[in-house]
Amino acid sequence: MAQNDTPVKALVLAGGGARGSYQVGVWRALTELGWRPQIITGTSVGSLNGAMFALDLYETARDMWMSIRSQDVMELPEENADLSELHAFLREVVRDGGMDVTPLEEIVERVLDEDALRASPIRFGLVTVEKRGLKLPERIRGVLKCKNPRCITSVEQELPQEFVLTDRNKRIYRCIYCQTEAGK
Ligand SMILES: [Zn+2]
Repeated sequence: MAQNDTPVKALVLAGGGARGSYQVGVWRALTELGWRPQIITGTSVGSLNGAMFALDLYETARDMWMSIRSQDVMELPEENADLSELHAFLREVVRDGGMDVTPLEEIVERVLDEDALRASPIRFGLVTVEKRGLKLPERIRGVLKCKNPRCITSVEQELPQEFVLTDRNKRIYRCIYCQTEAGK
C-alpha cells in the first residue's frame, strides 16, 4: 500500500442537541480563514452539521439553526412546563436510555441529499446511536402533548398528559384520554 505523507485536515464535530448551533459559527469562521477540511466527521447532531458543511450548505445550516427550537432536535417538555414535568422527562431518559429524536430525523429528510453527499470531494464519516437497541417506555407522562383540540387535556389544563404505547413495532403512542396518536 502506498504511503501518503501529505497531511490532510479534518473537522470533528461533537453531538449535543441544540448546542450544535455553535458549530455553524465555527464553520463560518473557518471558511473566512480559508480553512477547508478534506475530512469531516460528526456525532449525532454534529453529523447533520457535518453533512451540510460537506455539501457547502452554509445558508441552509444557518437558517435551520436560526429557526429551530430545542423541541425540534429532541422532544423536550414544553418551555413553560413546570419542574415536575422536566424531572419526569429526565427520569424517562435515564430509565430507558434514550430519547425521541424523530423531529431531527424529519430535518435530515428535508435537508440532506445522500447522492450529493456521496459525490462530495470531502470525505465524510458519522457516528450515531442504533435506535432499535433502545427500549421504548410503556407509558410516557408529562413529555408529549396531545394535539387533539377536543381532548379533555386541552380543556382541563391541570390533567397530566399521558400516553401509552399501543404498537411497539410501529412506535405508536396514544393519548390515554382520547386515543389520539402522538404527533398526529
Ligand atoms: Zn388526548
